[in-house]
Amino acid sequence: MNICLNDKIFGTLRDLVDSENVQAYVIGGWVRDCLLKRDHAEKDIDIVVIGSGIDIARKASRKFGPGIKVSVFKSFGTAMFRSGEYEIEFVGARKESYSRGSRKPVVENGTLEDDQKRRDFTINALAISLNKASYGELLDPFGGISDIENKIIRTPLDPDKTFSDDPLRMMRAIRFANQLHFAIEETTFASIKKNAERIKIVSPERVVTELNKIILCSQPSRGFNLLDKSGLLKLILPAIDNLKGVETKEGKAHKDNFHHSIKVLDNISKKTDNLWLRWAALLHDIAKPVTKKYVPVTGWSFHGHEYVGSKMIPDIFRKLKLPLNEKMKYVQKLVDLHLRPIVLSQDEVTDSAIRRLLYEAGDAIDDLMILCEADITSKNEAKKTKHLENFKIVRNKLKEIEEKDAMRNFQPPVDGSEIIDAFGIKPGREVGIIKNTIREAIIEGLIPNEHEAARKLMFEKGRELGLKPVDQSI
Ligand code: ATP
Repeated sequence: MNICLNDKIFGTLRDLVDSENVQAYVIGGWVRDCLLKRDHAEKDIDIVVIGSGIDIARKASRKFGPGIKVSVFKSFGTAMFRSGEYEIEFVGARKESYSRGSRKPVVENGTLEDDQKRRDFTINALAISLNKASYGELLDPFGGISDIENKIIRTPLDPDKTFSDDPLRMMRAIRFANQLHFAIEETTFASIKKNAERIKIVSPERVVTELNKIILCSQPSRGFNLLDKSGLLKLILPAIDNLKGVETKEGKAHKDNFHHSIKVLDNISKKTDNLWLRWAALLHDIAKPVTKKYVPVTGWSFHGHEYVGSKMIPDIFRKLKLPLNEKMKYVQKLVDLHLRPIVLSQDEVTDSAIRRLLYEAGDAIDDLMILCEADITSKNEAKKTKHLENFKIVRNKLKEIEEKDAMRNFQPPVDGSEIIDAFGIKPGREVGIIKNTIREAIIEGLIPNEHEAARKLMFEKGRELGLKPVDQSI
């Protein structure tokens, strides 16, 4: 028996399609990953039916148990349901024809081979029969098996047709090459280069889904280099494309910020699967091109690039249709603060500087330290060790101050309503001034992070502002 059909569910499906007298095949990612012996986190199974996929999905769902909800997408001719850890999707075999301006094909019923032809890559077009007479037989009209063996991404048809029909496939080619550690076959890649401009007809949501999958690879720099070489990078992420290049003046060169950024992304990918921390790594130097200056004697400077960069993030996120919520704010915060631990590691570190960083970074402090360590891309091992040693010192100091002063999730020991009650005033400017004064005094170490000391300072500052305490005895 074909090892790809080991799961019990395939037996159930076999019996069903035979009794219904329809031909059906497992196709796509399930077959590919099985042949690659690749563990799939999500157990998605795609079934292609010669006939109505929706009808078979409904009947199959009843076999898997009562009350299973089938989601039907009539306009796509597909239907799916969940059974345990599996998500099983059924589609009627189809033939597609595209018009130039759109990714939406005209669809008609077709044969298995028609359906395999509309697949993006040979490795995704492999099908395994589910019918009893040919159960487990592999149908590979385009050499998908040999492409799996040789680790090659190739389109089943003329690549110009495959990519021009649905340009999202260009992103998918690079994503699969990156995820599976495959190479993109020469004419396939040449065709991506030729058709790159057509990515413009794809919605940003679809593009970013693939981009995120690239970012989540174990070595995303491979994907980014392919995006660059194919010409897609400048179309989908012009701000990252702008990081490319080295300028030299008076014999002084700055580093190539594109290669540096994707190296930092690789470094951080060894430490975290957090997509947003990986985005922060990719974008941490995004403002270097716009802040670049050559200063005679001292050389290249990128003054304020961390702050300017954090302000560039919303525009980048908006264009890519990435979320504009706390995830974006977290990326902005990390970009804005990414030089601060370096500064702290170089100078004599004062407690107040550490408290200020803890206050500003809040819960992102650990991720910020991971980013800073990933930002060390020097090839000089001695230098690298020295920087890492310095960060160790900063980490220890952060821990020490955090244990003592609990600044990470700073809650002012005196809040706005206590100030309002103490002076019998309305919410307004004075409340803000007093709150800031207390916070700054705690960060600067002038008073401890405690209620009594904060309340005393509240009265002092209030008096200075001409306010009178409600309690005359104070
Ligand atoms: P993964 O789960 O890692 O994304 P997958 O191959 O299962 O991999 P899906 O996007 O779920 O990817 O697609 C399932 C199958 O549908 C693919 O294997 C491929 O045969 C086909 N497919 C998906 N998207 C396209 C596309 N844009 N053009 C052609 N075929 C596609």
